[in-house]
Amino acid sequence: MKVSLCSQKKTILYFSPHQDDELLSMGIDICNSISEGHNVHVILCTDGSKCLVKDELANGKECNKHPGTHTYLLTVEELITARDKEFRESCRALGVEDSNVHILRNRFTDRKLTICDSKKTILQYLNVMGPDCVVCTLDPNLENNRQHRDHKALGYAAVELFNEGFIHELRVFTEPYFTEFFYHKMDFVRGEIRTVIAAATALSQEKIQKAVEAYSHWEPETGRYAVGYHDIAKAFDALLKNGTSFCHICTRETYDPESETGKCRKLILSLASYPDRLHSAVKTLATVYEQRVIPDQVILWLASSDFPNREKDLSEELIKMTEENGLSIRWHESNLKICDIFLLAINVYPDALLIAVEDDMLCYDQFTENLYHSYLLCLSGVPGVRMCFAPISITGEFSLYKDGLYKIVPYCKEEVNCLKNLQDKYRNLQNDLKMKHNIIVRLAKEIGKLKRELTIQEKSISVPGNQNNS
Ligand SMILES: [Zn+2]
Ligand SMILES: [Zn+2]
Repeated sequence: MKVSLCSQKKTILYFSPHQDDELLSMGIDICNSISEGHNVHVILCTDGSKCLVKDELANGKECNKHPGTHTYLLTVEELITARDKEFRESCRALGVEDSNVHILRNRFTDRKLTICDSKKTILQYLNVMGPDCVVCTLDPNLENNRQHRDHKALGYAAVELFNEGFIHELRVFTEPYFTEFFYHKMDFVRGEIRTVIAAATALSQEKIQKAVEAYSHWEPETGRYAVGYHDIAKAFDALLKNGTSFCHICTRETYDPESETGKCRKLILSLASYPDRLHSAVKTLATVYEQRVIPDQVILWLASSDFPNREKDLSEELIKMTEENGLSIRWHESNLKICDIFLLAINVYPDALLIAVEDDMLCYDQFTENLYHSYLLCLSGVPGVRMCFAPISITGEFSLYKDGLYKIVPYCKEEVNCLKNLQDKYRNLQNDLKMKHNIIVRLAKEIGKLKRELTIQEKSISVPGNQNNS
C-alpha cells in the first residue's frame, strides 16, 4: 500500500539550546506540527544559567516593565528553576504534552555547549526514538559571528550528522533577531534545501500568545520573574507582531558513505623539519595519526638541500608512514623559515583549513578535533594550541623550553571578550599549569628510574591571531 506523504505521522524532535529558543525560533513550527498530528518532542540542552537578567533583577534600579525597583537576589539555582518554569509552561501552551518535554538530566552549562556534546545528545535521542525522526534546531549560520555559541554548536552538530547520513530530514531555524542572515550560503549542507517562511495560523497565533505570556509572567512571590521577557522583550514582541518563522528544510533521498564526509572543507596538517629534528618529527607524526579526527592530508616539508638523495635519505619509519598512512612528503628548495613554509602550504591548498604543527611537539588525541571545532565556533579568530615537548633524562631531570615558562594566550577571541578580568584568568591558568607541571616532574622522577628515556607532553591552551600563531 502506498502511503501519501501528507498522511505520514512523523516523530519530530526540537532541540532547544536555551529556555526561549523553542518558542522564539521554532514555536510556530511546533504548533503547526502538533495540529498536523505529528508526535512532537522538545529537548532543552543547557541550563540557561549565564543569563544576565540575574543581575538586572538584583540591581535595585527601576524597571520599565514592572513597578518599583528590582532587588531580587536570585541564586544561580533559583534562576535556572525560574527559567525552567517558563520553558515548561511555554511548551504546554504550544501544545506539547508534558511527557514529551525533556530537560536533560546532565544538561550542559549555558555557553559551554560543544559540537561534540551536541552530536552525542542528538544521537542519543535518535537511538531511543528511532532513526527516522525529523531533527529540528537552530541554523548554525557559520558566517554570523554574533550568533550565540551554543546555537552555533547545536546547529552545526545537526548539520554534520545530516551530512554523515544519521539524519534524514533536518530543519534549521533562523533566530528571529537575525533574519537578515536567512539567505546566507548553505553550501556546507549536503542535500536538498528548501527555504520556508511560515506564517502562524489563527490557532497557532493563539498558542504563541499564551507561550509568550509564560515568558512574561511576573509574580516574584511564586518564583515567576519574567526572565525571558527581561532578557529579550523585542524578540517576543516581534514574534507576536509578525507571526513568522524562518526555516531551511534539508532532506536527502540517499546517502553514499563512500563519497561523503561530514566535514565541509579539507583539513590539512602541515609540518616542516630538518635532519637533526627528524627523529622527533616522526614522533609528532605518530601522534597525528592517533587523532580522533585525522586530517585529510598530512604533509611533511623538507629542504632538498638537506637530503641530497631525497627519499633514500629518510628513515624506514618515515617511508612506512608514506606507504601505510598516506603521509605526503614535499620538497622545497632552500631552508625556508617555518612561516614561509606555512605560506607555501596556503598557496598549494588555498581552499583548505590548514593546521601547522611544530616538529617537536606531541599532539593529544583531540588536538585536531578541538582546533577544528573552535574554528567553527569562532571563525574570525585563529585557533591554536601551544604544547611543550619536554624531554626527561634518566635521572628524572625535566627541561623546559627557554625560560621554562609556559606562555599562555587565551583560547579564542570570543572568550577574551567575555572575560571580565583577563589578568586574573591568566594567573589562574598559569597556576594551574604550574601545579600540573609539578605533578609531572614528580611522576617523571619515579618513571625516570625505570626507563632510560621518556618523553611526555605538556599542553597549554593558546591562540589568536595577532599575538602568536606559531
Ligand atoms: Zn538561545
Ligand atoms: Zn522588571
